[in-house]
Amino acid sequence: MTTLRALAFALACGVAVCAAAPRPAHAAECPPEQAPHAFEPVHPLNIDKIKEQLRDYHSHYYAGDVSAVLADAQAYVQQRAGEVARPALVLDIDETSLSNWRNLSADDFGFISKGPCNRLPDGPCGFNAWVLRAEAEAIEPTLALFNAAKAKGVSVFFVTARPKQQRHATVLNLHRAGYRGWTELVLRDASDTKRSVQDYKTEMRSKIAARGFAIIANVGDQRSDLDGGYADCTFKVANPFYFIR
Ligand SMILES: [Mg+2]
Repeated sequence: MTTLRALAFALACGVAVCAAAPRPAHAAECPPEQAPHAFEPVHPLNIDKIKEQLRDYHSHYYAGDVSAVLADAQAYVQQRAGEVARPALVLDIDETSLSNWRNLSADDFGFISKGPCNRLPDGPCGFNAWVLRAEAEAIEPTLALFNAAKAKGVSVFFVTARPKQQRHATVLNLHRAGYRGWTELVLRDASDTKRSVQDYKTEMRSKIAARGFAIIANVGDQRSDLDGGYADCTFKVANPFYFIR
């Protein structure tokens, strides 16, 4: 590479990008227009390696991370409850109040909505069938928050994207897990499919607020549980296992 060409390449490339990104030697030595291999595709991470990391994270760090967030939420709710009229707490359900780890693990992190779930702990385990089993365990720090909030006179609303057809199973599961005495369980219309979960949940919180409740805290495992307003504070519980828009 001539000195002039090298200088032009360095300027075009940008110091930070070139210096930071390890590239094959030929990529650093050839200008892009003359080196068809200069821009190597960024290879995605290996999915089995990611699964190993997820299982390791769940085994060693997940519970601690969740506990830390819920401890902050509980301290805040206990302090804030007496400062507003009609205080309310909004909780998401899946991976916030209830753990679907047995389903996630059985399906090896591959989401399967339909089909039976009768081979646990092996898979496959259809998620809808799993919900109908009503066996998901409580996420204990959230149950502690739930009870602490109630003790402070805070109305607790579950706002979930589970469909209304799953109301019975969801109530049963919440009861089995220890959640009792909530104010309302809000589920989604099955026909409400053309908008994001975030838009749906924001509207549900707006309706709670319109009834005169002051939502002091909103707790969820997805940004779509939390973004959109209608809560004084939001608390994001860890969930690297799936993403909901
Ligand atoms: Mg969730």
